[in-house]
Amino acid sequence: MTRIDDLPIRDELRGKSPYGAPQLDVPVRLNTNENPYPLPEPLVRRIAERVTEAARRLNRYPDRDAVELRTELARYLSRTGGHEVTKDQVWAANGSNEIIQQLLQTFGGPGRTAIGFEPSYSMHALISRGTGTGWLSGPRTEDFTIDVGAAVAAIAEHRPDVVFICSPNNPTGTAVDADTVLALYEAAQTAKADSAGALVVVDEAYGEFSHRPSLLPLIEGRPNLVVSRTMSKAFGAAGLRLGYLAADPAVVDAVQLVRLPYHLSSVTQATALAALEHTDTLLKYVEQLKAERDRLVTELRAIGYEVTESDANFVQFGRFRSAPEVWQKILDRGVLVRDNGVPGWLRVTAGTPAENDAFLDAVRELKKEQS
Ligand code: PMP
Repeated sequence: MTRIDDLPIRDELRGKSPYGAPQLDVPVRLNTNENPYPLPEPLVRRIAERVTEAARRLNRYPDRDAVELRTELARYLSRTGGHEVTKDQVWAANGSNEIIQQLLQTFGGPGRTAIGFEPSYSMHALISRGTGTGWLSGPRTEDFTIDVGAAVAAIAEHRPDVVFICSPNNPTGTAVDADTVLALYEAAQTAKADSAGALVVVDEAYGEFSHRPSLLPLIEGRPNLVVSRTMSKAFGAAGLRLGYLAADPAVVDAVQLVRLPYHLSSVTQATALAALEHTDTLLKYVEQLKAERDRLVTELRAIGYEVTESDANFVQFGRFRSAPEVWQKILDRGVLVRDNGVPGWLRVTAGTPAENDAFLDAVRELKKEQS
């Protein structure tokens, strides 16, 4: 049998495993930060209508520049992000993973480096590798916040071309304040003052769940700052694959140098437009999930676990001598959570009240067993 490593693959991919959480058939799945609520029926019907219209024109390529969709995304961001943006400042792709890939293809690549502050979203490192960009792991403090002094020093020393700031951060749930972003932005531009500076990507995949306002207004007057977003979480549309960014119009022009022509199918554009028509209903689910997230934090602490402050739709809890063992014991009770490989910690996604109750019952039982 031919193995991957028998093939003439690139050296940096040898011996590596693909990204992916286990997709197990378990009654309660709280492991991939999905939204637990299916789309409401009126929206499902509206998607069917818009996709039907799109189907009548499937013999043609889609709108390559996704102008209508970018206009509606800009309207959504302007309404909820605390900052007015136009369609020229917005770009969309198949999930924010593709947004990140396009950014790294444009601003990273061979001979260039990207830095992130770990533990953080592991795809930042993996997509860097996939695009031939060198990866640098920057520090976090014991409580998983970014230590500005240490981060600025790492940027000054390594002079990265791309800086990732994940806020709220996956898997810890930690939000980053605007002053930290500004300090890292300045440091990154200073370190690369001999060239056109460095790109700073604020990954706000979980932005809508935060207690704090969006960092979107920071793009004003900072052409090297990008905010990336997704419809996978707050919009409850992980299956849709729609991510987007907001930045200076020049960044939007730049990523078009690498995007595949017609990358965003007509069906995707039609579905996303239908979902955006139902924004207000979907954001009501976000409010429920925020309340459930806060309940998980409170109850986990009451049970006796350590919990990291969360601004996302998930909660990091611990500490465990062996997180993989506890992960398995929770799974044995029919609840799937995530072991992100952060020693001593696990992550649970906020589900429906019933799912969260099932999870809390399981970990309450475990705590009793251990004491
Ligand atoms: N950024 C972060 C921080 C994430 O956690 C995720 C999904 N887990 C993504 C980006 C990618 O999301 P998507 O490609 O579904 O938009």
